[in-house]
Amino acid sequence: MNFAVTFSGKASVPSLGQGTWHMGKNRLKRKKEADAIRFGLDLGMTLVDTAEMYHDAELVVGKAISGRRDDAFVVSKVLPSNGSLRGTISACERSLKRLDIECIDLYLLHWIGSIPLRQTLEAFVRLREQGKIAAFGISNFDMTEMEDAWNDPGGESIATNQILYNLECREAEWSLLPWCRQHQVPIMAYSPLNQGRLNFPALMDVANRHNATPAQIALAWLLHQQQVIVIPKSADSAHIRENHMATRIALFPEDLVEIDQLFSPPGCAHPLQML
Ligand code: NAP
Repeated sequence: MNFAVTFSGKASVPSLGQGTWHMGKNRLKRKKEADAIRFGLDLGMTLVDTAEMYHDAELVVGKAISGRRDDAFVVSKVLPSNGSLRGTISACERSLKRLDIECIDLYLLHWIGSIPLRQTLEAFVRLREQGKIAAFGISNFDMTEMEDAWNDPGGESIATNQILYNLECREAEWSLLPWCRQHQVPIMAYSPLNQGRLNFPALMDVANRHNATPAQIALAWLLHQQQVIVIPKSADSAHIRENHMATRIALFPEDLVEIDQLFSPPGCAHPLQML
């Protein structure tokens, strides 16, 4: 199993991180959510993924990492509608303010939009020169979009592609994942528990063999793969502890065969799904 993934040959982060979608919506829950993120940091889940789209989540992340900036690797995202040269720079500055930090460790374009990607990449390069971001990447790019992006000016600096990837959504395995491995671009697997809607009972036998829960098996399966960062979201300390324990599970070859029977890998090219 992998314990760390390296972006662009520079920053190395543990391969189990934390998501934050839907955090911050309910003001009364923000303290609990910030505590949950801090608990994850304590356990070593240092990569914290957020986005301007989840704008109040950025406030929660800012609260969680206040006083311990060096413990966290912060990922945020610009919306495609803000993806112009000026729009990206302004969006980044707003995110920095909400996060209350000087530099975002990894800044992504949330999905491809109608604004030419070259503008976003130019903004990313400028932001990096200004020290407002340390690295940049993309999200929800399919194989063709990824290759096109790679050929744009600045494209070869793309540090990651964050995609929907879990046992029930394995489309990326057909060509995108092999391409990313070949080009040493780690992927970030979002919704690794399919937003809590994974077919957990199917995993019960494998889970029993490891004295684990099905959610842990779903995470262990992703963590088993090379160059994949896994970012489950949880605001529940018991779930966070459970998720973290998935890093200790080493799946057996027969588990992997059984998992492939339960959740088939793609047999041909399918469009990449996104949420
Ligand atoms: P997810 O992580 O697959 O699932 C989150 C749900 O699972 C929450 O309801 C959580 O509830 C529950 N959960 C967590 N641990 C559990 C466990 N051990 N057992 C049972 N339930 C558990 O879904 P996600 O939030 O969509 O994806 C993760 C992160 O990826 C997001 O938060 C976001 O940062 C990122 N993301 C990115 C994109 C993109 O377009 N780039 C899209 C979607 C998501 P509790 O909080 O109660 O534990």
